[in-house]
Amino acid sequence: MNKALFLDRDGVINEVIFRNGKPASPRKIQEFKVKQNTIKIIDEYSKKYLIFVVSNQPDVKRGNMDIKELNKMNDFLLSKMNIKEIVNETEDNKDFKKPNPYMILELCKKYNIDKKQSFIVGDRWVDILAGKKSGVKTILLEKDYSNDETSLGRPPLNLSPDNIIKNLDQLREII
Ligand SMILES: [Mg+2]
Repeated sequence: MNKALFLDRDGVINEVIFRNGKPASPRKIQEFKVKQNTIKIIDEYSKKYLIFVVSNQPDVKRGNMDIKELNKMNDFLLSKMNIKEIVNETEDNKDFKKPNPYMILELCKKYNIDKKQSFIVGDRWVDILAGKKSGVKTILLEKDYSNDETSLGRPPLNLSPDNIIKNLDQLREII
C-alpha cells in the first residue's frame, strides 16, 4: 500500500487572498502566489509519500472564476512540484466538497492508500473534519481564520486536529 500526503491548496500551498477582510481563493493566475519553501518541502516529501492536492473551488460554479484560470494554477503546480494528482471540487456540491471525505476517499481507492500512514494538511476546520471522516491523520496549519464559519457552517465542538503547525516547515517535526 502507498502512503499519501493530502494537501489543501489555499493557505497551505499558496497565499490566500483577502476580500472584504475574509480569506478567499485567488481567481486569476496573477493572484496565485506559491508560498516560499513550499516547492522544496513538497519535493522532499514526495520521495516517501504520494502527494495530492484536494481543494474546494466553489468560485467556479458561483461564476466568480473561469475554470481556465484554475487550470492554469493547477498546471503551474504540476510543473513545479512532484504532485501525483490535483482534485478540485468545482460544482459547489456539498456531498463532494470538504468537510465531506469524498475527494480523499476516491484517491485512496484509486491509488491503494494506507490511510493510517497518511496525512492531510489544511488551514481550515473543513480540512480537519474531512481528514477525520476519511481516516487519515490530521494536521492543522493554524491561522486566525481556521475555525471561522464557512458556507458550510461552523466546526463541530469536539473537532480537534492530531497536530497543529504554524507553517509547512514544521511538518518536519511531525512526519
Ligand atoms: Mg485552505
